[in-house]
Amino acid sequence: MGEPQTDMRGSSSHGHPHFTFGVIADIQYADKPDGLSGWKTMRYYSQSCLHLQEAITKWNAEDIRPTFVLQLGDIIDGCNKRGEKSEASLEMVLTMINTAKMPFHHIWGNHEFYNFTRDYLMDSKLNTTWLEDRRQDELDPRSEGSSDNKDYYAYHFSPHSKFRIIVIDTYDLSVLGRKETSDGHRKSLAFLDSSQYDFNVVPPVGTQGFHLLEFNGGLGKEQLAWLDDVLTYSDKNGERVIIAGHIPIHPKAKRSLCLAWNYGEILRTLQSHESVVCYFAGHDHSGGYYRDSHGIHHITMEGVIESPPGTNAFGTVFVYEDGLLLRGRGRVKDRFLPYQGKKEHCDVSMCQK
Ligand SMILES: [Zn+2]
Repeated sequence: MGEPQTDMRGSSSHGHPHFTFGVIADIQYADKPDGLSGWKTMRYYSQSCLHLQEAITKWNAEDIRPTFVLQLGDIIDGCNKRGEKSEASLEMVLTMINTAKMPFHHIWGNHEFYNFTRDYLMDSKLNTTWLEDRRQDELDPRSEGSSDNKDYYAYHFSPHSKFRIIVIDTYDLSVLGRKETSDGHRKSLAFLDSSQYDFNVVPPVGTQGFHLLEFNGGLGKEQLAWLDDVLTYSDKNGERVIIAGHIPIHPKAKRSLCLAWNYGEILRTLQSHESVVCYFAGHDHSGGYYRDSHGIHHITMEGVIESPPGTNAFGTVFVYEDGLLLRGRGRVKDRFLPYQGKKEHCDVSMCQK
């Protein structure tokens, strides 16, 4: 809907953008020949870093330089672990990212946990919580909203006075990454025990518990409460919120088995806040899109790793007064994503700052 036409400076019938940002998912770099995945899809390992380089070159050259990039997870492939190349491959990709003229916010996917432990990631360059903004009420470490000492990797920041981006950890509940003796692992097993699951069986899509698979995960109670708290703040302050995580959370926004374990709880949390505009995910390399009953846009980005030579999969999001324009490259479609129609209380003079 809408027409995704913009001029060279990003202006369009929607006005001039408040800011822009880049999105990219599932680079899955590995120094190995192209080949079929376990799902019989073609993976272009030798192309993935060339695709990333092209994305960075394009973002660096845009007339309105993106303020930041959301890297939606699975930055290197799990096969690096078997060849003991995890650290070298990560360093290679991060060296390339260092040529970007804007910061990258890194999200963690299942392939991060195939290569590294959660403790390792927390101390690595893939931990970008240093880019977070604290709200005034979070600066007091005794406050409930404080993000200190969290057992999950999630944070938020505000690139504009009326917009907030929230990075969530969809492997907070997971059998990947955490020590088996940890509280988080115990809570994850307890969640699975309360549901029907069998990691040895790949059930048909749509059957009970079809998505309760090892390569998916979810949000624990503490993270859901934290997310609810941040969104309550955004509602009160008339902010529009864009959320990003690795795993899709709406059954109609993906094509495969990729869906968060407790997607219903996550969806209900998002849908109970008028501030939420859009949720970006990766994980399902074929991509997907759905606008839910509350007007929230669910974008699943096509994966770089399954983009043949001569194509690509990334995008730049232009944040306008009336909606987001996703300008896709390669396999990613252009889309205009209007905001929900319940922001009339928003002070227009404030929004145009
Ligand atoms: Zn993934």
